Amino acid sequence: MSFANLGLMPELLRAVAEKGYDTPTPIQREAIPAVLAGRDVLAGAQTGTGKTAGFVLPLLQILSGSPERRGQAPRALVLTPTRELAAQIADNARGYGRYLKIRTQVVFGGVNINPQISALKAGCDLLVATPGRLLDLQQQGAANLSRIEFLVLDEADRMLDMGFIHDIKRVLKLLPAQRQNLLFSATYSDDIRNLAQRLLREPVSIQVTPRNTAVEIVEQCAYRVPKEHKRHLLAHLIREGDWHQVLVFTRTKHGANRLCQQLEGAGISAAAIHGNKSQAARVKALEAFKQGRIVALVATEVAARGLDIKELPHVVNYELPNVPEDYVHRIGRTGRAGAGGAAVSLISPDEATLLRDIERLLKRAVPVLPTPPFTVNEASPARPAVAARTESRAESRSHRAAPERSETRGGGKPAHSRAHGSAQRPHDRRPQRSHSRGGRFRQGS
Ligand code: AMP
Repeated sequence: MSFANLGLMPELLRAVAEKGYDTPTPIQREAIPAVLAGRDVLAGAQTGTGKTAGFVLPLLQILSGSPERRGQAPRALVLTPTRELAAQIADNARGYGRYLKIRTQVVFGGVNINPQISALKAGCDLLVATPGRLLDLQQQGAANLSRIEFLVLDEADRMLDMGFIHDIKRVLKLLPAQRQNLLFSATYSDDIRNLAQRLLREPVSIQVTPRNTAVEIVEQCAYRVPKEHKRHLLAHLIREGDWHQVLVFTRTKHGANRLCQQLEGAGISAAAIHGNKSQAARVKALEAFKQGRIVALVATEVAARGLDIKELPHVVNYELPNVPEDYVHRIGRTGRAGAGGAAVSLISPDEATLLRDIERLLKRAVPVLPTPPFTVNEASPARPAVAARTESRAESRSHRAAPERSETRGGGKPAHSRAHGSAQRPHDRRPQRSHSRGGRFRQGS
């Protein structure tokens, strides 16, 4: 099966060949003909399956087939949850459409709106947007959605997780009723099913990737380690394994920043990427990571969603996600397009339940390997043992509260045990007062 068999026009075949694609991926084999035939589509597919080309290629073909309809207002709208994904889709659309006269624009929040207003004024055929910024632009009269014929909801599950349902509903009200709708989602919750039911008319259902396929191709393992030693073990794994590119997941923005500094302190080049970073900083960090100028990219779930980093060899779950499905998304950052990859999880005692939930979802165990011996190197001076012992009780409790958990939003079980011999060493009791909220944590002592 080749792309030519899918009914794509020569201009697109040329662009695809130049990208180095030989064969369509399963989602492309099914989605491209369905979209070209004018059908609504409900597709279960994750990032990494080639889903973007699955909807972008046929849309480009249809849009270029009726140039007389071309005007200032876009005819196709792709909604995505994150800026990075939006930018990536727009890049892909421009790449695939390089031999066509299709104008693609992308709009997302977190950056100056004015250039986006100007870009929309210049006119476009395909608009890729995050929902909030799109509504802002519409309210300001800059985005005209009255001529949309094609709507794609990409990573719809993530958009709902991120609370975009109301924005999506508002956008839907602004669109013409007569249109072709495509919904892509890695997972199917009841909310997604409801949305699909409301949105799609007799859709072609495609499920190319059982949602845990990453699980099949990514080599997974876990190490048990007290949370205060995670950073040392991570530094050890990076050094000893001679890792050159590792994406590390933390649960919180603050945790990402802190780990990034700690890695840097341990001599490992790192950058953090999360929602509090400016778009420019995120792009800069991502580029540095892709080009191999930094070894570790420390990211929160949301920021990493949709990132397409070619042949990413290592993913580390520095903290397990609260939602088991997110584990699958995370490890899906590696092992992409059939390439192998390794995902390592660092499990502290309080995360045992989270690991069990993940294993239940995967329907298999994540192998827990013996934790290798590693050195605990404090970057900053250790707190003298005597001082640690003479603290007031309240203070002492707050020191023991794991800073990584201090920002956990729901679901996590911060209670943890101090039963690890190594965790009793004075240098591990270094206070991190500014991040601790001792009262929230149930302590073992
Ligand atoms: P996506 O799931 O759309 O994020 O795509 C994942 C990665 O697969 C991207 O780097 C694409 O460039 C790449 N890709 C998409 N389609 C193909 C194909 N048919 N053959 C090889 N690579 C592809």
